[in-house]
Amino acid sequence: MTTPELYDMVIVGGGPAGLTAALYACRARYKTLVVERIGLGGQLLTYEKVDNYPGFPEGISTFELTELFKAQALRFGMEHRSAEVTSLDVAGPVKVLHTADGPIHAKAVVIATGCAPRKLHVKGETEYTGRGVSYCAVCDGPFYRNETVAVVGGGDTAVEEAIYLTKFASHVHIIHRRDTLRAVKIIQEEAFANPKITIHWNRVVTAIHGGPQGVTELSLQDTITGDASRLDVAGVFIFVGLIPNTHWVPETIRRDSLGFLITDDEMTTSTPGVFAAGDVRAKNLRQIVTAVGDGATAAFSAGRYLESLAHLR
Ligand code: NAP
Repeated sequence: MTTPELYDMVIVGGGPAGLTAALYACRARYKTLVVERIGLGGQLLTYEKVDNYPGFPEGISTFELTELFKAQALRFGMEHRSAEVTSLDVAGPVKVLHTADGPIHAKAVVIATGCAPRKLHVKGETEYTGRGVSYCAVCDGPFYRNETVAVVGGGDTAVEEAIYLTKFASHVHIIHRRDTLRAVKIIQEEAFANPKITIHWNRVVTAIHGGPQGVTELSLQDTITGDASRLDVAGVFIFVGLIPNTHWVPETIRRDSLGFLITDDEMTTSTPGVFAAGDVRAKNLRQIVTAVGDGATAAFSAGRYLESLAHLR
């Protein structure tokens, strides 16, 4: 029987945090593998453009930024593989990551799996997903040329994506449950100045209706008066926050009440040899710039952990 290949560091997730961890790990000459479910880039690729990553005064497309992150890590020897990690075994000194293509063995693991969009959990949402209900404006926006669409949420994602959707849609209705937006002020100002955007304050979506062609209408409720109303739309984009991709992470690794992994400032989780970086981690600011910082720190800390193992031998 052949001995399974043993990596120093396996990084799960190929977004900004994972690719930066790989860059730092490879430059420190650790045998490193990045495992990514779909393709390198992660959640970043669901946005069109980034305006707040330093070094790009005119902004940069997410595709281009991903290619730059990737090229830099590859230049220093990053290995990567497409596979979905379904569980992680941390019982022994060697961590085992299970995938449909077999196990992967690592001395240290960096979890950088990011988040998935949170669902609204209203009637019609599941039924019309892919037929008018979307969680990705870059993926589905072009299908709504000259149509009216709605965006649900008031955070950075909802407001930025509403602005992006005005490139295609004839009108974009933002449905927000409060009377102030959570999004950063500069994005709010842009939305307020856009004649193709109407904001429906203090409203929630209670049901999504449609027919054989897909979504046609939303049921709304006023959160102050309780009044019900209807809104004709051809599509609804839901951006009501994020849930961490941690379903595959053992329950023994500490997380907060929302499921985000708890680390210290060194990105160390509650399990020795397991680190977390980026949006999957419990923290206040989820940005590319904080994800890359986490990735660098996680790789550095994982390196120190690997040195401590070598020291014990
Ligand atoms: P978020 O900041 O958590 O905002 C979620 C929005 O959805 C909030 O406005 C919230 O309302 C609303 N919401 C939550 N549950 C709801 C429900 N059941 N029904 C109706 N509305 C609901 O999520 P996000 O906008 O996806 O952003 C996630 C993280 O990524 C944030 O840290 C954000 O700053 C970051 N991000 C940054 C950028 C950027 O810097 N360019 C772009 C995108 C995302 P309330 O306001 O009432 O809570």
